[in-house]
Amino acid sequence: MKQISKVKKAAAGFTLIELMVVIVILGLLAGVIAPKIPQFITKAREAKTKGSLANLKSAVHIYYIDNNAFYPTTSLYVSLVPKYIKEIPKCELPANGHVATSVVGQSAVTDAYSQGYGQAGMFTDHGQWMYCEIEDGIDVAMGTVEWGDVWIGCTHTDLEGTIWSSY
Ligand SMILES: [Zn+2]
Repeated sequence: MKQISKVKKAAAGFTLIELMVVIVILGLLAGVIAPKIPQFITKAREAKTKGSLANLKSAVHIYYIDNNAFYPTTSLYVSLVPKYIKEIPKCELPANGHVATSVVGQSAVTDAYSQGYGQAGMFTDHGQWMYCEIEDGIDVAMGTVEWGDVWIGCTHTDLEGTIWSSY
């Protein structure tokens, strides 16, 4: 018996119509997704900032455990880097117009304290990390803050509608 192995021509590739349908579908998808890309990027940066805040908080806590129940009383750069954290991460709040910074609002905390205000700084919306190095500090945005507290000095909200300083 003679074997006939004949490949159908249609199966060898796409027809022009099929290609056009695929191109149109890709175009529609791009039209839906492309406008959302900046929002995706912002959301990713916000997620990174929340992760960095968690890292800073845990570094402060490990310091506390390691130093007989004392939180850092000096700059977090001095007390944490590099033993408890490799570096102070950047605080990125892209949707709120703040410039990404690794500054910890703490030297001003010391200043306010040394000037007799007894307050953990008068920060409301600097868009940077905040650290309370004294007991029962008061922050305009936060109210009473405790020694060892780390937060974000921003009264804007993230894309989920949560005020940054409440994290
Ligand atoms: Zn802000």
